[in-house]
Amino acid sequence: MSKNLLACIALLAFTHPAWPLDLADYTLADLTHPYNKDTIYWPTSPSKFELKKLAYGETPGGWFYSANTLCTPEHGGTHFDAPIHFSADGSAVHAVSLERLIAPAVLIDVSAKANADRNYRLTIEDVRAFEGRHGVIAAGTIVLLRTGWSERWPDARAYLGDDTRGDAARLSFPSYGADAARLLVDERGVVLLGIDTASIDYGPSQDFPVHRIAAARDVGGAGESDGTGATAADGFHDICVADDD
Ligand SMILES: [Zn+2]
Repeated sequence: MSKNLLACIALLAFTHPAWPLDLADYTLADLTHPYNKDTIYWPTSPSKFELKKLAYGETPGGWFYSANTLCTPEHGGTHFDAPIHFSADGSAVHAVSLERLIAPAVLIDVSAKANADRNYRLTIEDVRAFEGRHGVIAAGTIVLLRTGWSERWPDARAYLGDDTRGDAARLSFPSYGADAARLLVDERGVVLLGIDTASIDYGPSQDFPVHRIAAARDVGGAGESDGTGATAADGFHDICVADDD
């Protein structure tokens, strides 16, 4: 068993003498918000982030030991929406291939438009304008949409538009539009939709078309990312660390 594994690793090393992703050539950016008592969850979420300390300090044996237990609903904080979120046949997080999580990424910035209209939705024209400047988005790409909403974190009312617990009927924030999502997912073949707001559908949505368009192609979403860390318009890789399904 271990011999076979070693053989596979050696084969990979020999077939890829020049590994294209050399981290020394990149500036690494953390696009996550921390999990803590301020983490923003969907208003209908029955609970929030809970951290319980199990141990912290010196043990009777004389060494230091720290451990916690934590509990969190899936949809809050910087998180991954596996395709099964909106498709019975969609992949759960363990089944999403790494090629869909570690891939070249493009950043589309609509923060000026979102600043003028907090329910702004990415349009086909926005995508085409981006492609006019940076080239047609290639299949296998991760799309990150920046709306500027990270600056409102962790003010839930400013971020979601309404922070009434148990009621998601009056939310208000920007995101992808359905037609733009169809272009990106169905025609361009992108592998993940990222966003710096709470959802890949805009706040007022009650039928979540973008989630359904993406899930139908087994494309996941990444919500509540910290968009302030991403600076390049193109030419970078995104590594999405999936932590829920
Ligand atoms: Zn989610």
